[in-house]
Amino acid sequence: MSMVCGDRRPFRPGTPVSTPHSPSVPACTSQCQWRAVRSVFMETSTEGAAPPDSSAVPAGAAVDAVVVTGAPVIPPASLSPSRASDFMQCPLLYRFRVIDRLPEKPSEAATRGTLVHAVLERLFDAPAAERTAPRAKALVPGQWDRLRETRPEVVELFADDPDGERLARWLAEAEALVERWFGLEDPTRLEPAERELFVEAELESGLRLRGIIDRVDVAPTGEVRIVDYKTGKAPRPEYAEGALFQMKFYALVVWRLKQVIPRRLQLVYLGSGDVLTYDPVRADLERVERKLLALWDAIRRATETGDWRPRPTKLCGWCDHQAHCPEFGGTPPPYPLPVRAAESGGGHQGRMGPD
Ligand code: SF4
Repeated sequence: MSMVCGDRRPFRPGTPVSTPHSPSVPACTSQCQWRAVRSVFMETSTEGAAPPDSSAVPAGAAVDAVVVTGAPVIPPASLSPSRASDFMQCPLLYRFRVIDRLPEKPSEAATRGTLVHAVLERLFDAPAAERTAPRAKALVPGQWDRLRETRPEVVELFADDPDGERLARWLAEAEALVERWFGLEDPTRLEPAERELFVEAELESGLRLRGIIDRVDVAPTGEVRIVDYKTGKAPRPEYAEGALFQMKFYALVVWRLKQVIPRRLQLVYLGSGDVLTYDPVRADLERVERKLLALWDAIRRATETGDWRPRPTKLCGWCDHQAHCPEFGGTPPPYPLPVRAAESGGGHQGRMGPD
């Protein structure tokens, strides 16, 4: 069987593969069938719905939980990979982010990730031959300006940096990440079918799965490759499954929408210069679906009972909500919350969470 977009490396379906270098992928032809896939995505997307995949939930971002004083809490109607991971990591963290919608401060790492994603997306606006590293690096300042306009809260990251030294260092780090990408993939030989694609699918149970896929490549044969950029380092092999969860989630959404199982899932780690690939099979996606449904049941039970247990781990060090967490001597807000129903729309685009 041929590989996605001309990748001719041997592979074993169902086996994770770490590679130091991603295969070059020839430009997709005009016969690319992904357009048909996309139309399905867009038909099934919720117009104006909140973007699902920002790991942090900025104040004002829309979520699906409906919470009214004195009334039972209605469980959120959808799951993104980030929110599913939140619940698996710590149910109380999920509550703080989705139900309480507690604001979180932007971090330098997460904001740098957002910036790098924006640069890699915009680079494909240029003709293939002009997608060079210098050009990509030159996009960084402009995309940073744009980010400050669309997310004014990121300005506070450098409020105590009057001479701009820290900002200059931070921008240089973003440029270095962008440059490293050119050692992993060759954008002059790529013609993505989609970039930053919002996808949403409803399972038979009524659970909606949603997310934003960084890049979709489609081979002339119609085979689909889903690509996600990470600005952090690749996980150790024993943690690879956790890293692939998000990709299998997306693969499940694509499968449910189009009845096509993506040929390849590809994680590009700019922090360490690694590429992790996985060729999913039907059983993988069925397993992920069962897992998500079980997770959904657990979330519904927690919503009904108000039993959102903290689950302390090493990751608590990165949690913005220790002041509200009993594990750290804090008190969660009252539950159900004295707030109104969450609304859709008006949420922030892009991703601000750690990756
Ligand atoms: S501090 Fe740790 S245990 Fe508490 S809410 Fe955050 S992640 Fe959960």
